[in-house]
Amino acid sequence: MLYPLFADLNDRHVLVVGGGDVAARKTAMLLKAGARVTVGAPVLAPELREWVQQGRIAYKPGAYRSDWLDGTWLVIAATRSRPLNARIAADGQARQRLVNVVDDAALSSFQVPALIDRSPLLVAISSGGAAPMLARRLRERIESLLDPAWGSLLQLAQRYRARIRTRHADLAARRRFYDWLHDGPVHAQLRAARPAHAEHRLVTALSDAAAPAASGSVALVGAGPGDPGLLTLRALRALNEADVILHDALISEPILDLARRDAVRIAVGKRAGGMHTPQDSIHALMLEHAQAGKRVVRLKGGDPFVFGRGGEELDVLREHGIAYEIVPGITAAVACAAYSGVPLTHRGHAQSVRLVTAHGQSSSNTLDWRELAQERQTLAIYMGVGQLEELTAQLIAHGRAASTPFALIENGTLPQQRTLTGVLGDLPALAARHAIEAPALLILGEVAAQADSSHWFGELLGESRSQTAVPPAVLADAA
Ligand code: SAH
Repeated sequence: MLYPLFADLNDRHVLVVGGGDVAARKTAMLLKAGARVTVGAPVLAPELREWVQQGRIAYKPGAYRSDWLDGTWLVIAATRSRPLNARIAADGQARQRLVNVVDDAALSSFQVPALIDRSPLLVAISSGGAAPMLARRLRERIESLLDPAWGSLLQLAQRYRARIRTRHADLAARRRFYDWLHDGPVHAQLRAARPAHAEHRLVTALSDAAAPAASGSVALVGAGPGDPGLLTLRALRALNEADVILHDALISEPILDLARRDAVRIAVGKRAGGMHTPQDSIHALMLEHAQAGKRVVRLKGGDPFVFGRGGEELDVLREHGIAYEIVPGITAAVACAAYSGVPLTHRGHAQSVRLVTAHGQSSSNTLDWRELAQERQTLAIYMGVGQLEELTAQLIAHGRAASTPFALIENGTLPQQRTLTGVLGDLPALAARHAIEAPALLILGEVAAQADSSHWFGELLGESRSQTAVPPAVLADAA
């Protein structure tokens, strides 16, 4: 087993042998740790040369000599020559210096771990040289889980450590206080880029007579259109920290699987089967759990503020003084456009995009059809599958050409995505023939024609369906 070690190299001499990009990368890291770096090599990469000129590092020109090791605490060998690296390692061995040979565990007497830097918090990963790829993968995972605010949170905690200790002399109480600090409003304020608010919360909590109560919060989180790969890192972190998840009934299992295992999950909103949670009950659930001190994630399809009633939920949270944050998601229009190869504002074809909802009996009266029928704009129409006849008739009646291309994307970004293409005049008939169902998004405008040639995900229906049709040989096999 390797002995894990976090070395204080501040003001200590370290030798880096090698003048290339790898040496430069290692040097940058050492400089961050405050080390006094000497780089030895016949020639230096531009970056290293610059640092020498700026006096940030010392330089030993020419071929390697063992006396370069004199007076150094650590040595990093980053040359391209294995025999030379081996010589440096042997010289280090003879002089009892710790030597790291980059990417060569066998020659190294110490290894540099994969690192997640939230200074003062450092998470280091080592596979002992056995599986650097795995270490790298783990690093990415942890990197995405620890939000950047951890660094400033711990710096703040460091400054107030003595006061926290005095205020909560009892260990159990102190532990509870730190839980509150890590999970509660101070961290939330730092995530919201408000360091002064964060510090104020901390100071207030320290001068309050009572220990701070667990304070609940709600995150309105956009889950994107369905593909879990389209979640943001911030959404993923929120899911990892949630006590309670109130999710739209349509949120896919693979996304919910990313949430904390022991989080309580409650499906709300419309279900395909017709079960329906009224908006008021959703508000009541959010309040109930947040007021009980829970961290609630209100997980919504797409983006919470695009036809998602996120605005109403936000109003309720504000009225009741509940702490909140809002995490945007990739909205269906943007996602479906990408997954069907339609550039929504393709140069020369469209100067604007309109996100339109065709939901509700009244929309045909309230929508400004004449505006919507204008050319050189793209319409992205949500919740329109039940209204295709009406929609088509109105747009054509108000002047949009029946030959305007459309792409209708059903279950966008999901494995069962289907994209139907055609022209506006044929839209209702084509959609009926292929039995397109919700959720589906309609893209209407000249740009939609691109789907025929640029489509890349799922099945393409309609005029160009032959492109993705099952090859005849396979059909014969199946028969
Ligand atoms: N807040 C969501 C929209 C909610 S309204 C967002 O930003 O995307 C619901 C409508 O969104 C559906 O009727 C459909 O038109 C569209 N939609 C949502 N997910 C979709 C998907 N995966 N594929 C196609 N359309 C989708």
